[in-house]
Amino acid sequence: MRVDVLAIAAHPDDVEMCCAGTLAKLRLRGKSFGILDLTRGEMGTRGTPEVRDREARRAADILGAAARENLDLGDGALRTGRDEEDLLIDAIRRFRPRIILTSYFEDRHPDHARCGRLVAEAAFYAGLRKRETAHPAHRPQQVLFFSTMHYHAPTFVVDVSETHELKMEAVRAFSSQFHNPGSSEPETMLTAEKFLKEIEARARHYGQMTGVEFGEGFISRRPPRIADVLEAFEGFEPGFE
Ligand SMILES: [Zn+2]
Repeated sequence: MRVDVLAIAAHPDDVEMCCAGTLAKLRLRGKSFGILDLTRGEMGTRGTPEVRDREARRAADILGAAARENLDLGDGALRTGRDEEDLLIDAIRRFRPRIILTSYFEDRHPDHARCGRLVAEAAFYAGLRKRETAHPAHRPQQVLFFSTMHYHAPTFVVDVSETHELKMEAVRAFSSQFHNPGSSEPETMLTAEKFLKEIEARARHYGQMTGVEFGEGFISRRPPRIADVLEAFEGFEPGFE
């Protein structure tokens, strides 16, 4: 299965919180994307791996993912050895994405940081023909990083105003993880009612930076090529037309 974009993150729900608006927008424009979770979130305070598998499938359906897979590399101690790297390289070669979206390589949660480093390195190694796995070599054009908990200034922002609601619907599909007044499981930072508002606040922050309602920010090690400077900074502030 070939996809245009592959989103890779440590825990099922990281992709939904951080880049689902961008994925849904690509889908609306006829592009395909896949989601690859590196762990099943088994260390999460709430829910079980089976519950999170079901929630992840539902969220993928809401967003219109072409595929969602899980490499099961161990939540709370994400393994990054040679075997795990080979698994990831082979997954990248199967999906053959042009662009990979993943967690920034510095974050509060070590799994997110490890994920960012592992993915960036595997994306390069996937292009080495003599590093053999079950599928032929493929090198994505670029790896783009999103902030998970710690904030990093974005290289660019995607306007996701039209898909923000769909993103929040996909986030809420993980009902074991977020605010649920009916749950008897322990409270965490993620289950507080304000956490969903904080996801929206970050989207509004990125949007405010670029003059739209909602945005998602990405960090790139090389700058994106812009065809038209006027288009990239279109419009005027109110009162200056
Ligand atoms: Zn996470």
